[in-house]
Amino acid sequence: MITNKYVRAIFPGSFDPITNGHIDVIRRSINMFDELIVAVGDNPQKEYLFTGEERVEMIHQLLKDQPDVKVEKFTGLTVDFAKAKKAQVILRGLRNLTDVQYEFQLALTNRLLGGIETVFIMTGEQYGFTSSTLIREIGRYGGDVSGLIPPAVYKKLKGKLKDKKLARKGPKT
Ligand code: ADP
Repeated sequence: MITNKYVRAIFPGSFDPITNGHIDVIRRSINMFDELIVAVGDNPQKEYLFTGEERVEMIHQLLKDQPDVKVEKFTGLTVDFAKAKKAQVILRGLRNLTDVQYEFQLALTNRLLGGIETVFIMTGEQYGFTSSTLIREIGRYGGDVSGLIPPAVYKKLKGKLKDKKLARKGPKT
C-alpha cells in the first residue's frame, strides 16, 4: 500500500537508564515512521535512579544525529500523551515471551482506552537479556555493565551510584 500519510509514533518507557537494547529498537524503527518521539515516563509514584530531566538529556545527547527522533518527558497515561502529540502509533520492544504477555495486555488496554495501535519490534538478539533493571542492579554491586549501555550512560551511572553511596553514608564530620 502506498500512502502519503505522515506517521508519528511514540516510544514510551522509563529508560532508567537507556540501554543499547532501547537504542537498537529506536534505530531500527526510524525507517518505519516519519517521526518518533521517545516518551520518557516520569511518574510521581515511581522511584527512579535518574531524574526525568537526566533521562531526557542522556537520550537527547545519544540521538541528536537523528533529525526524525525527538525526546520528551511525560506524566500520566501513555494514551493521553499519544493523543496530545497526535501520534497514531505506540512503539514497544519485545525480548521474550514474558514481555509478550505483559505487552499484549498493555496494547489491548491502550487500544481500548485511546483507540491507538501498538507496533512491536523484536530486540536485536544480542540485547535479549538487557534491561534497565538489570543494569541498575549489576551496577549497584560494582559489576561491569559497560557492554550493555553507551559509554556516556556508563559514565553517568557510575557517577550516580557513587553519589547515592555517599548520600547514604552522610556528610563527613
Ligand atoms: P517500561 O517501564 O515502560 O517497561 P522500559 O524503559 O523498561 O520501560 O522499556 C521501554 C520499552 O523498551 C518496552 O517496550 C520494553 O519492552 C523495551 N525494551 C527494554 N529493553 C529492551 C531490549 N533490550 N530490547 C528490546 N526492547 C527492549
